[in-house]
Amino acid sequence: MGAQLQVEWDLKDHGWAVCRISEGPAKVNLSVSYCTDGLADLLSSIGSLYGTSQTARFFFDSEPTEFRWVLRNQGADVDVSIYSFPDVAISPDLPDEDGRLRWASTQSRSQLAHVVLEAAQRVLREHGEDGYLAKWAMHPFPVAILQDLRRLHLRHDPCDLAHDITVPPK
Ligand SMILES: [Zn+2]
Repeated sequence: MGAQLQVEWDLKDHGWAVCRISEGPAKVNLSVSYCTDGLADLLSSIGSLYGTSQTARFFFDSEPTEFRWVLRNQGADVDVSIYSFPDVAISPDLPDEDGRLRWASTQSRSQLAHVVLEAAQRVLREHGEDGYLAKWAMHPFPVAILQDLRRLHLRHDPCDLAHDITVPPK
């Protein structure tokens, strides 16, 4: 076993969050603004890999940096690449190759989904839906998208890890 992927979604005040990703000594911290619904996009993009999509793309708006995620199905694995572009006002039309590669890793889909689900559920446990909306402001906590991904993960992935099945707090 290599180093385990870890993902933390650190919700800040006034529509900002920091998405912290690490795998052993390799780390990247991505600032995320509420200009996009970053946590929802992350969850739904991973969810789309359970269907016919072979590739999923979305970006975090870090004002002005674009952090573009590219997820590619490779059998039971997912290649994850994150590129940065200096100006989100123009970069969403640019090809991936024009960005700077900030993170690249191959994970099993099961591991990736599990770790991201856990990160999202920690946010919900800590802040609740009301607390989340008070901080993130532009978008509610993506409860339905979280539940969709959890259902797909539990049904289709061979995951032996423990799962938090507590009902989201109100
Ligand atoms: Zn799991």
